[in-house]
Amino acid sequence: MNLYLGIDFGTSGARAIVIDSAGTIQAESQYSFADSTDNLTAVWRQALFSLIAEIPEEIRGGICAIAINGTSSTVLLCDRTGNPIDSPILYNDSRGAKVIDKLREIAPQNHTVISATSSLAKLLWWQHLIPPLVRGARGDLSFLHQADWLAFLLHGQLGISDYHNALKLGYDVEKLCYPEWIENLEIPFQLPIVITPGTAIAEVTSEIAASLKLRKDCVVCAGTTDSIAAFLASGAKFPGEASTSLGSTLVIKLLSSTRIDDAKYGIYSHKLGDLWLVGGASNTGGAVLKSFFSDGELESLSSQIDAEKPSNLDYYPLLKAGDRFPINDPNLPPKLEPRPENPVEFLHGLLESIARIEARGYELLKQLGATPLSCVYTAGGGAKNPTWTKIRERYLQVPILKPTHTQAAYGSAILAMQGINKKL
Ligand code: ADP
Repeated sequence: MNLYLGIDFGTSGARAIVIDSAGTIQAESQYSFADSTDNLTAVWRQALFSLIAEIPEEIRGGICAIAINGTSSTVLLCDRTGNPIDSPILYNDSRGAKVIDKLREIAPQNHTVISATSSLAKLLWWQHLIPPLVRGARGDLSFLHQADWLAFLLHGQLGISDYHNALKLGYDVEKLCYPEWIENLEIPFQLPIVITPGTAIAEVTSEIAASLKLRKDCVVCAGTTDSIAAFLASGAKFPGEASTSLGSTLVIKLLSSTRIDDAKYGIYSHKLGDLWLVGGASNTGGAVLKSFFSDGELESLSSQIDAEKPSNLDYYPLLKAGDRFPINDPNLPPKLEPRPENPVEFLHGLLESIARIEARGYELLKQLGATPLSCVYTAGGGAKNPTWTKIRERYLQVPILKPTHTQAAYGSAILAMQGINKKL
């Protein structure tokens, strides 16, 4: 039996899922990064190997393809042998703010790399703020994303990435090349060769096959980012299908036949096969609910809400001023007044207002030219609230579906399966 392994490196831990050709899960393993802040790359290496080693041997021996997703914009600088020469810079590290003016000078206006946390911002930070690191090593250092480096540990080919991870490095996913303005930068590091996510890169090295008891012909495929892997897991496939993540914040992703990029609203598109995965993120979401209610209260109060009846409270729930999508205003004040005494009414107003912002987000994507919405898969803490689902359905006017799977590792396993069967 041919089996496919997906590995997810998330923010707090890593997970592996093995599926068969029918998509049924055959094995799972997990690794928590708790308390391991020192020597991150050693922790990642250990996590990768132990996730694979924990898969029962009879299943491990059937794995014919592996794909790995990492957190988007978590990056490393390595020497020629793939050894990291500095601590990785994590996805949410905003030290790149120091080079933001430089980014504005070199990148086209409103480009997605113009952000303190983009991969290119991190690269420039290394280049300009750590001169001793760069001096004497011209051309010898490779710039990689987390997923690229982890895959390298298995297949041994240094310097290969995918165009999901490389989007925030400035890679042109339409023309499938680095744009001229990057080529002209004379970056003193080797930039990764970028290929289609899921494409077979190479078989695992013979050392890895022997030590982890994997098949010698087990192929490692190009990976993706954590949020795209989670989208692939959801089951959404056709233009118009979307996923909303109701976690601490509200993140929407819509599969569209047309590409939409609008830095003003923080909207950008990933290439997904022949389609585009258009995304936007608002600062509203569960974190605001959490500031007023415990999870238990959210559950019990929600059950007392009549979801068919509209609330007349019109809030813009934020923890602090400012939102980018669907309203682009860095000074947008949180609107949480008037606050009724009855907590059921207050929560009703909050849930309804977040639902309104979500619907406005999808409407904005449509106005900008994206394929109209046909259904929404929902993930995150808010997905388990049936009252909220009913309220959201009233605003979105499309069915809200439970994702087939929510684990990013499952999406990476699908990517490995599709990649090896050349369906992408
Ligand atoms: P993240 O990973 O983005 O931090 P999660 O997906 O774990 O977030 O979701 C956590 C959020 O879900 C919390 O902010 C919490 O307020 C919200 N949440 C938890 N239970 C419910 C519920 N029953 N209804 C609505 N929101 C909920």
